[in-house]
Amino acid sequence: MTSDQFSRLSDIYKAMDKTWNMTASQYGFICQGCEDNCCTSLFFHHTFIEKAFLLKGFEQLAPDTKKKVRSRARTYYNKTFLDNDIPTSLKLMCPLNQDGQCLAYAHRPMICRLHGLPHEIHKPGLPIFKGPGCHAGFFDQHPYVPFDRTPFYMDMTEAEIQFRRETGKTGKLKETVAQMLLF
Ligand code: SF4
Repeated sequence: MTSDQFSRLSDIYKAMDKTWNMTASQYGFICQGCEDNCCTSLFFHHTFIEKAFLLKGFEQLAPDTKKKVRSRARTYYNKTFLDNDIPTSLKLMCPLNQDGQCLAYAHRPMICRLHGLPHEIHKPGLPIFKGPGCHAGFFDQHPYVPFDRTPFYMDMTEAEIQFRRETGKTGKLKETVAQMLLF
C-alpha cells in the first residue's frame, strides 16, 4: 500500500463526510446514537482498498485493545456465520465499537459513513434507486434533500481498480468488519 493510494481514499472519504454532514444539517439531523444503532447492522464491505485502510487503523490501537477487538470479532463471526457460512443478522455490535465509540473512526469504511440519510443511486439502464434514511431521523416527515451516492461509488470503484492493479488482488470480496479483522 502506498501513501498515494491512502491519500486518494482519504480524499474520497472527506468528500463523503462533507456531503453527508451538509445534507444532514439541511434536515437538522444530528446522529446521537439510537437503539437501531447502525454499528449493529450486518454490513458487508467489498473493496480491498477499504479493508487495507481499516486494518491500518486497527494496527494503530494498543496491543491489549487489539486483543479485545479480535476476541469480539471472533464471537461476532462465530454467531453470525453459525449456519454453514450463511450469515444471520443478529444485530450484534461491530467489534470495533467500544462504549459507543468506533475505535477506528478515521479509518471506517464507506458504508459506515454513508448510512443513515435518504439517498439515491443511479445505475446505467436501471431506474433510480431510492433508499430511505434510518428511523432516528424521521426523514419521511421532511421533503427529500437530494443525496446522490453514485459519484462516491464511482470514485471508490476507480480507487479499487487502481489498488488491485498495484497489489495484484483479485476476486470478489464480501466481508463484515469482523471478518476483515480475522482473515
Ligand atoms: S467500523 Fe466503526 S462505524 Fe463502522 S460499524 Fe464498526 S464501529 Fe461502527
